[in-house]
Amino acid sequence: MNNFLIKNVCVPGLDLDEAHIVIKDGRYDTIMPAVSNEALIFTQNWEEDNKKAVDGRGWTIFPTFTDIHTHLDKAFTYEQVPNYSGTLREAITNYQSALPSFTEEAMMERMRRLMDRAVSYGTGRMRTHINAGEDKAGNIALQAASKIKEEYRGILDLQIIAMVGNMSQPLTKNIELQDVLLSNNIDGIGGAPHLSESCNEEIDDLFAFASSRDLLIDLHADEQDDPEVRSICHIIKQVKKYDYQKKTTAGHLCSLSAMEEEAAFSIIDEMIQEQIYAVTLPAANLCLQGRDDKKNVRRGTTRVTSFLKKEAVIAVGSDNVNDPFHPFGDGDMLLTALIAAYANHLTSQKDISRLFQMITTKPAEIFGQTNHIQEGEKADFVLIEGKGEIELLSVQSGGRKVYRNSRWVSERQETISVWKKGNIYA
Ligand SMILES: [Zn+2]
Repeated sequence: MNNFLIKNVCVPGLDLDEAHIVIKDGRYDTIMPAVSNEALIFTQNWEEDNKKAVDGRGWTIFPTFTDIHTHLDKAFTYEQVPNYSGTLREAITNYQSALPSFTEEAMMERMRRLMDRAVSYGTGRMRTHINAGEDKAGNIALQAASKIKEEYRGILDLQIIAMVGNMSQPLTKNIELQDVLLSNNIDGIGGAPHLSESCNEEIDDLFAFASSRDLLIDLHADEQDDPEVRSICHIIKQVKKYDYQKKTTAGHLCSLSAMEEEAAFSIIDEMIQEQIYAVTLPAANLCLQGRDDKKNVRRGTTRVTSFLKKEAVIAVGSDNVNDPFHPFGDGDMLLTALIAAYANHLTSQKDISRLFQMITTKPAEIFGQTNHIQEGEKADFVLIEGKGEIELLSVQSGGRKVYRNSRWVSERQETISVWKKGNIYA
């Protein structure tokens, strides 16, 4: 089905109530408002020629989602790994203890489960952080992710960020660990240096290694309620030193919300100047942060509205799914967007439109690609049952059709049966 017409579909980004979209050879060939006379004649001719058409009435089209921050290796371990306190500290400790009991096969099955569900919801790109260590268990997770990356290429494209920390020696001197990372097809280096006693030295080491291999940097930064935790300031210095603009991403940035507005704005300005991407992870932060607050319990998410106000590149990621860090979720970015809307006061029409950019075009940019619904661009989209952004966020419809790389890659349906008086089966 290389050439086809999608009729009467809602296209929010183009401010068209309904449009006709012609896809030819995997690209958007023509996009026209559905109400014009030209469109009427066009569809009549199309149908008389018996060409293929998809009825898009009551559906909305978006570029496929990019989930820019996940943890495939940890997904669906909630039953095996408890977290009684609900804190980040206990989640990390308990997961590390359970890690040696995981097999590569079981890990791959859990990864496939999340990948399949994410594709079915409309995700076309995903970046996963994978725990990498000097022991055998660390290698298993990376090997599993590397195989999954090949298995899903073209359906759900995967970037792998190797999360390192607590190393016996710096990565730049750790030839054995370097070999493990580089032999597993990684795209970047990550970690959570703010948790380390030698935070700045760890950041220096990661940048030195990444720049020597032209790898991306994607760090868990300042996932803390303490306003004095500011590893982002040292990250900014290293981006300047290594000219790592547009190759560096900082996720979480929770402490920005805890500090005074002036201090936070100054850091955001420097991030924008150095073209450092920001990612907010609302689901995990709402669960893990603010646990020690005795009153006015904090949301724990970063200052999303401040980033938006300054036109910074910021995206929303799903982070952990059904594991000790976050017990819920199943890879649907529409649900993650709704959580981000609640967590960050994103309720105006303008902010809701920006929210959809934060799960589509913005994270695609961080991924290093473009994905827009424009004539001449590659057709890479999800059709979602429901009309317009507010209805989709409210209804969370399961009806989705996903098209990538010149083919339909997934379809899921929403089925509703209401048994009213008079048609109840006795
Ligand atoms: Zn994370």
